[in-house]
Amino acid sequence: MEGKRPIKYFTMKILVVVVMAATVTLASPRGAGKLWGYQRNTNGPLTWPAAFPKCGGSRQSPVALVSDEAVPGPPVEHFTFHNYNLVPLSIKVTNTGHSVKVTPMSDASLTGGNLTDRYIFTQFHFHWGATNNQGSEHTVDGVTFPGELHLVHYRERHGSLGEALRHSRGVAVLGVPLELSLQDNLNLQPIIDGLAQISKPQKTAMISPVILRDMLPDNVDDFFRYEGSLTTPPCSEVVVWTVFKDAISISNTQLQEFRQLVASDGTPLQDNFRTLQPLNGRRVCGVVLRLDASHVTSLARRQVTVVTQPTGDQRKATRDHSGREFTELECYVYH
Ligand SMILES: [Zn+2]
Repeated sequence: MEGKRPIKYFTMKILVVVVMAATVTLASPRGAGKLWGYQRNTNGPLTWPAAFPKCGGSRQSPVALVSDEAVPGPPVEHFTFHNYNLVPLSIKVTNTGHSVKVTPMSDASLTGGNLTDRYIFTQFHFHWGATNNQGSEHTVDGVTFPGELHLVHYRERHGSLGEALRHSRGVAVLGVPLELSLQDNLNLQPIIDGLAQISKPQKTAMISPVILRDMLPDNVDDFFRYEGSLTTPPCSEVVVWTVFKDAISISNTQLQEFRQLVASDGTPLQDNFRTLQPLNGRRVCGVVLRLDASHVTSLARRQVTVVTQPTGDQRKATRDHSGREFTELECYVYH
């Protein structure tokens, strides 16, 4: 009996060393890469570039969107949302460990909106805060929303999202701010109802259908347009961003359901938004596609402005964040 005690003690010591070694591995950049997340001091956005070099790039997302600093984009063509109004055959909701991803079995796509190609819809997902004063990734005119919805599309000619991620402008994301409301947003409710089944990471559930068009604001003619990146690793700089100026609503009760979920690192899945990234000279277009009489008049004036020398306030309106000047024609068609 007595002779066994030192062996037991020795075994325990080895076990302690092994556990410590495993902990060190997880804390290293390589480990953080596998378990990237949103915890500031361990696996959060500031640690991403170590394992995902593109996250340290110069054309990253999200950014602060400011109407007065955006280049005014003239009305060229409205978005066409193909099959956005159809009821999908089935719809799956997934806790990815970083977000809630919704994948309808549908055949939806996007053209127009100053995009030059057709983009195939693939999934939408959410970003949200632990509290109602944070959660959105982009800010619009200095406002942070309690959440943001992203509808992800890939350019048709690339055939898949995976391939599109290798090409400039291969991906088009529609960003929709989620604005706090006292009433539940009933259009979101089938998703909310499914969350209880996916509280743990990698869980999936089938839910009642939602209509894609209901995930967009009524007014889809006013938006910001710029070129950026995925806001999560690997942060590929291939995204044509459209962020609508109008929001869809969400209630605190509904946000609370998102906040109950568990992230892949075992922490509560909350505050899954990336901090604002610098524009680094990129152009942001502020597009207004509504063709009312006053807008047509102002468009005519703007076109004159392009061929003559802009003066005073007009000149100011064609400067971007870094003071670089653009002509409004640059926001006409995105190619
Ligand atoms: Zn996103």
